[in-house]
Amino acid sequence: MKIDDLEFEPLIEEETIAKRINLLAVELNADYAGKTPIFIGVLNGSFLFVADLVKHITIPCEVTFTKLASYYGGTTSSRKIREDIDLSTDISGRHIVIIEDIVDTGNTLAYLIEKLKLKNPASISVCAMLVKPGKLETSVEELRYVGFEIENEFVVGYGLDYKELGRNLRDIYRLTSTTDEV
Ligand code: 5GP
Repeated sequence: MKIDDLEFEPLIEEETIAKRINLLAVELNADYAGKTPIFIGVLNGSFLFVADLVKHITIPCEVTFTKLASYYGGTTSSRKIREDIDLSTDISGRHIVIIEDIVDTGNTLAYLIEKLKLKNPASISVCAMLVKPGKLETSVEELRYVGFEIENEFVVGYGLDYKELGRNLRDIYRLTSTTDEV
C-alpha cells in the first residue's frame, strides 16, 4: 500500500490489536481497582488506542489528553519535543497512566514523565501500544504495559501517521523499503 511516496505492508491486524487491548484492560482493571486512575493520552497518535482501551476499562477512571510531538512528518525522530497542548487536569495525589502510541527512543516519554512528576501525582505508569526495544535510549521504568514489541522499523496506521496520512487505517503497517534511517 502506498502512502504519499512510500510503500507499506501489513504488520499487525485489527483483530490482533483488539485482542491485545482486551488483555491490557484486564491488567489495568485489576491493578487500578479502587484507585480511580487518570488516563492521559498523548496526542495525536494515541487517539484510537485510548478510545479502544478505555471502552474495556470497567473501574471508575478519568480520561484526558496532552499533545506532544517529536516527529515532523518524516520517518526518523527529530529529537526535539514540542508541546502543543498542555495538561490542565489537576493530577496531584492521583494515579496516572500515560497512554502512548509508540515508544521509539523513549525521549518523549522521559520528558513527559519528568514534567508530570513536578505536579506530585501518587504514581505514574505508562501503557504503550508499540515499543521498539532496539531503539530505546532512555530506560523508562514506568513503562509497565506494552501492547506489542516491534523491530526498528517505521510503522503507520491505527493512529500513527506518515506525513499526517494513515492515522485512520484499522491495521498497523510497516515501511516496505529497507532504510538505515528508521
Ligand atoms: P521517541 O521520543 O520515543 O523517540 O518518539 C516517540 C514519538 O515518535 C511517538 O509518540 C510517535 O509520535 C513518533 N514515532 C516513533 N516511531 C514511530 C513510527 O514508527 N511511526 C510513526 N508514525 N511515528 C513514530
